[in-house]
Amino acid sequence: MKRMNIVVAGNSFAGFTAAIELKQLVGYDHEIIVIGRSPDFVFVPSLIWYPFGLRKEEDIMFDVRPPFYQRDIKFFEAEIVRFDPDNKQVWLHDEYFPYDYLVIATGSNPDYENVPGSGPGKFSHCICNLNCAREAKKAWKDYVEHAGPIVVAAAQGSAFFGSAYEFAFNAHYQLSKAGVSSDAPMTFVTPEPFLGHLGIGGFANLREIGERLFKQYKIDWITNTSIKEVLPAKVVLSDGTELASRYTMIIPGFCGSDAVMNSAELGNEMGFIETNDEYRHHDYPEIYAAGLAVDVEPPEETDVLCNVPRTSYPTEMMAKTAAWNIYADIYGLEKKSLPFSDINAYSILDAGNQGMMIIGDHMLSPRGLEMIIPGPQAHWAKVAHEKYFMLSRSMGIV
Ligand SMILES: Cc1cc2nc3c(=O)[nH]c(=O)nc-3n(C[C@H](O)[C@H](O)[C@H](O)COP(=O)(O)OP(=O)(O)OC[C@H]3O[C@@H](n4cnc5c(N)ncnc54)[C@H](O)[C@@H]3O)c2cc1C
Repeated sequence: MKRMNIVVAGNSFAGFTAAIELKQLVGYDHEIIVIGRSPDFVFVPSLIWYPFGLRKEEDIMFDVRPPFYQRDIKFFEAEIVRFDPDNKQVWLHDEYFPYDYLVIATGSNPDYENVPGSGPGKFSHCICNLNCAREAKKAWKDYVEHAGPIVVAAAQGSAFFGSAYEFAFNAHYQLSKAGVSSDAPMTFVTPEPFLGHLGIGGFANLREIGERLFKQYKIDWITNTSIKEVLPAKVVLSDGTELASRYTMIIPGFCGSDAVMNSAELGNEMGFIETNDEYRHHDYPEIYAAGLAVDVEPPEETDVLCNVPRTSYPTEMMAKTAAWNIYADIYGLEKKSLPFSDINAYSILDAGNQGMMIIGDHMLSPRGLEMIIPGPQAHWAKVAHEKYFMLSRSMGIV
């Protein structure tokens, strides 16, 4: 049998899982090459804690090279400029990698442009990657010393509503601990039609729990809205409402990665890859995609666009499904189909010293099981998950 060249683009949740899983399946008979712009795997879910000084960088990062080298997975640190699906090549600036199979796991890019004045170096902060989280941390230290009104928001087109809630709750907790919460009235702004919609149409009684917590914490909320612009000390909503803000955190909307955007024939107009339920590209059967790179249609239309969160568990499940299907394709075995809506919903929303565990048998409705377990144990479960994740993945266990 021909030795296949399997290239994985990206080395975060989707790419890392796909590469390790593929290696376990195909062994040493085929070559696995991972290309990523940095060997560092950043555990993004913990960035909700980073601005408050609760995590050091080394607590939430590991180097993917040791687990890859131990398994004879080749890693190239490089920027992918584009994909050439007709010639089966992954292009860097002036060289290319040929492939027989490709897994696109290059995630997404924050779309700051749909909210003028937002994003790094401008008037709001974000926690989508370590660079912005560093800025958010610097500004937070200063803010707590001169506390004033604070706005926490998810922008129109966002998908990570959970992280906006987590940041709001954690910020409230930190402000209370510092004894300045009464000087820091908080407003939560979201395109969701109601609290707890999460881009998935809601989940069990999350709306009631969310509203109760917001009232208890004295956080005002504005739903079903988009942000027109962010100015130095205020946030302007699309209906003209102006919210004074001395610290503004906005979880942005997202578009596809540059590498997919530069490969017009591959992605849709937002730069996401449309796949079937095997995570295989519709037009290029040797190309698979997983995680944030995959297009997932919102389950319902909302007045303001709310995208579907591709959180880490579904991301890893997509990557494992794609890996199996490449293996199945090479050896003529039966493929696996895993519609996104059918993946289990597992999530923990942290609120500083408490939180809620969200457990469902399907990401999207209808569900047979949906359960929310609120309480302090949810906070500790999130911490335990972080520790387990960092240890297991740094050892190459997926
Ligand atoms: C603030 C925030 C909090 C979150 N909290 C949670 C949570 O609590 N629980 C949860 O389950 N999920 C959470 N998520 C979602 C989680 O982070 C995503 O599910 C996960 O990051 C998706 O992984 P991915 O591999 O698809 O994409 P990404 O993590 O975006 O990774 C893409 C990878 O591709 C690489 N790459 C991109 N372009 C190129 C290029 N051109 N050349 C080379 N390499 C490239 C990047 O460097 C990166 O390694 C959160 C997300 C955010 C933004």
